[in-house]
Amino acid sequence: TPLKNIRNFSIVAHIDHGKSTLADRLIQMTGGLDAREMKEQVLDSMEIERERGITIKAQTVRLKYTARDGEDYVLNLIDTPGHVDFAYEVSRSMAAVEGSLLVVDASQGVEAQTLANVYHALDADHEIVPVLNKVDLPAADVPRVKQQIEDVIGIDASEAVEISAKTGLNIDQVLEAIVTRLPAPKGEIDKPLKALLVDSWYDTYLGVVVLIRVIDGTAKKGQRIRMMASGAVYELDRVGVFTPKLIEVAELGPGEIGMFTASIKEVADTNVGDTITDDRKPTATALPGFRPAQPVVFCGLFPVDASDFDELRAAMGKLRLNDASFSFEMETSAALGFGFRCGFLGLLHLEIIQERLSREFDLDLIATAPSVVYEISLSSGETIHLHNPADLPDVMKIAEIREPWIKATILTPDEYLGAILKLCQDRRGIQRNLSYVGNRAMVEYDLPLNEVVFDFYDRLKSISKGYASFDYQLSDYREGDLVKLSILVNSEPVDALSMLVHRSAAESRGRQMCEKLKELIPPHLFVIPIQAAIGGKIIARETVRAMRKDVTAKCYGGDATRKRKLLEKQKAGKKRMRQFGSVEIPQEAFIKALKME
Ligand code: GDP
Ligand code: MG
Repeated sequence: TPLKNIRNFSIVAHIDHGKSTLADRLIQMTGGLDAREMKEQVLDSMEIERERGITIKAQTVRLKYTARDGEDYVLNLIDTPGHVDFAYEVSRSMAAVEGSLLVVDASQGVEAQTLANVYHALDADHEIVPVLNKVDLPAADVPRVKQQIEDVIGIDASEAVEISAKTGLNIDQVLEAIVTRLPAPKGEIDKPLKALLVDSWYDTYLGVVVLIRVIDGTAKKGQRIRMMASGAVYELDRVGVFTPKLIEVAELGPGEIGMFTASIKEVADTNVGDTITDDRKPTATALPGFRPAQPVVFCGLFPVDASDFDELRAAMGKLRLNDASFSFEMETSAALGFGFRCGFLGLLHLEIIQERLSREFDLDLIATAPSVVYEISLSSGETIHLHNPADLPDVMKIAEIREPWIKATILTPDEYLGAILKLCQDRRGIQRNLSYVGNRAMVEYDLPLNEVVFDFYDRLKSISKGYASFDYQLSDYREGDLVKLSILVNSEPVDALSMLVHRSAAESRGRQMCEKLKELIPPHLFVIPIQAAIGGKIIARETVRAMRKDVTAKCYGGDATRKRKLLEKQKAGKKRMRQFGSVEIPQEAFIKALKME
């Protein structure tokens, strides 16, 4: 296809504003699939993605469109994840295209993720076509939302396309706008191959699939290519495009987006952002490239049943095949036995992985408190990165602890503003800005990530009845007065429950944990003290009272069948318990104790 007849674009939107529905409409109208294949929401194929309505992996579709000028166009749509945890994947897919459709729900208006995503598009120098969706709804207010787009984002919205992705209204105008308002890609077919490695994933049938955007030259079957950063050389087995069905093609030329396979063993052998070139006739300069995504949230995952350890390792290995941003290494805990320390891009990412492990692999897991990565300067001059609060060095050896901070943007209806400001304030937030976007307040806060990882998002949603939207970016590391809060059960520290907290919050947090554990740990034959401590100092204490003797006495009377039944019942109950010294702690205690109210 000649360059002038190619358009590459992405769709940016806040969650639920209709990105997937619009993508489906575009696929439907340009006929990549027949009616039977046109299942609902083709782009969000993974079960969890569908349930949660979010897209995790960027995917791509090639559409064929005959425009009103009579010419045939190839339109390549790259789907981008909409959630803040995957901001990195958003920006790298944006680098592969020249324009974006900015979809805004005309009944809701601009939201936090609308802003975050459109800034990614502007950073990538995209031409942007505003699209107002859901104009079929009575609550749609087109003039107001156009004004918002102009005021807040600063782009001209006078020619925004007004559509209903649901009813199909004006989808043809979206296709025309893509052709007439977005620029054609640039590139030269006679130059050596230069392509951007956009994404890669593991497919059960095809093995490692690599998604590329060709800049110059061509990629064809049998060609020997070189990945410039890694230096690896491969022969292309298969070259194709997604319609969204995979269709093999003879070659991919400048401006085109497509896939190849090349007997690559692991996704980890491919570096997103790498430049792919011809091995014998390489290009002189590589593309700018990306920094790899860094995990920012860590937690321990342990099998409830110790005999599931190998299975857990295998399951994690499988998930990692398709998700290089998820990392894990073995960890042992005195309380929980053998498990793994896992790294995630954010809390949603953590939840998704945990959910997939339990749903797809049927594993019962205990997760320890999520922790951010701390930077610790030791008195010796050395700097370490702490992923696990249990590994905190002796305080005497620590010169300074630094914690990651974020820049958060929250949009909310005015009536919830007071409660939200209080929440941010309680979480050590520093207000940076407060302005209005139409009738909605937009607040910007600097917040310690540590205060956000537990339940900030849930709290925000609940105090705003779901109306507030939230987005954040990591900003910097700052010194913090952080202390290690330890929990002792029967005078033994339970490593899985230790955490770093700000000194000002340590006491109330410790008291809360003790109170909860008191309810969660069943009575034993002896008194169990539950204590919270900072350093050696006990700051809170609760007691689980001893079981009454006569209750057990009764159990040992009676006939043998009853006794056996009772033992069996106890055994079954034990599976969900963790033996800790002489105390049994139920699995749910670990999860519930960590939830803040
Ligand atoms: P995404 O999160 O941006 O991908 O949003 P979806 O495409 O999944 O849409 C979110 C919800 O809005 C779904 O329930 C859609 O059926 C609904 N929706 C999408 N477009 C329209 C529209 O034009 N009109 C109405 N009334 N509902 C829509
Ligand atoms: Mg979607």
